Amino acid sequence: MVDETLASMVATAIRLLTVEGLMDFNGHLSVRVGKNGGHLLINPRHVSRSILKAKDIVEVDLHGKLVKGGLEPPSETPIHTAIYRQRQDVTSVAHIHPMIATAFSIAQVPIVPVFMLGCLFDSVPVYDKPHLIRTDELGDELAESLGGARAALMRGHGAVVVGESVEAAFTACIWFEENAKKLLTARQIQGNIKAFSREEVERMKRDLWRPETILKTWDYYVEKGKRTGVL
Ligand SMILES: [Zn+2]
Repeated sequence: MVDETLASMVATAIRLLTVEGLMDFNGHLSVRVGKNGGHLLINPRHVSRSILKAKDIVEVDLHGKLVKGGLEPPSETPIHTAIYRQRQDVTSVAHIHPMIATAFSIAQVPIVPVFMLGCLFDSVPVYDKPHLIRTDELGDELAESLGGARAALMRGHGAVVVGESVEAAFTACIWFEENAKKLLTARQIQGNIKAFSREEVERMKRDLWRPETILKTWDYYVEKGKRTGVL
């Protein structure tokens, strides 16, 4: 049996990302578990993201081998396992398909922080291969592109966003797309885009990327999900 509390959080985060348009019939979110963080919980390949429940969540090792649960892990599990192998600071990984942020990868226009919540994204690397990431080798390449960043775009495909917890990864996904929306809107107005300076980014990160702000974002979407019958 997988850890039920964490499995429930993974299922909740995915259902909420689905209604926010950041995931669709594809996409996954995982959380590191187990002794020395050597395993992860992730949604299975064939259960619809919009009706996902804790009992569906599976546990795999850092090479994608099923350890607990009866369902098949996603074909792109190597996205997650490679990032966990390379980033000890990461506890949760989301692979999403955000409409606006992904369009920047197609237009080859860099995402820069222009909105307060965008302070996490002062540098967004782009992984240039639009392939499905179904091998450890491609996963390692993507993880190398991500480097120490909070998020990386996958050209013509989507993004990976990482966090210190499920709530943090979820919140960073929301903030990532919000910044991209503001940037797109500003680019449609005649003028010069004024991105945040390094100093502004650092200051806003200190002010905003705090456990209480992360929970505030998480709680807002959970309550919204309950009110609208998503949860
Ligand atoms: Zn994908």
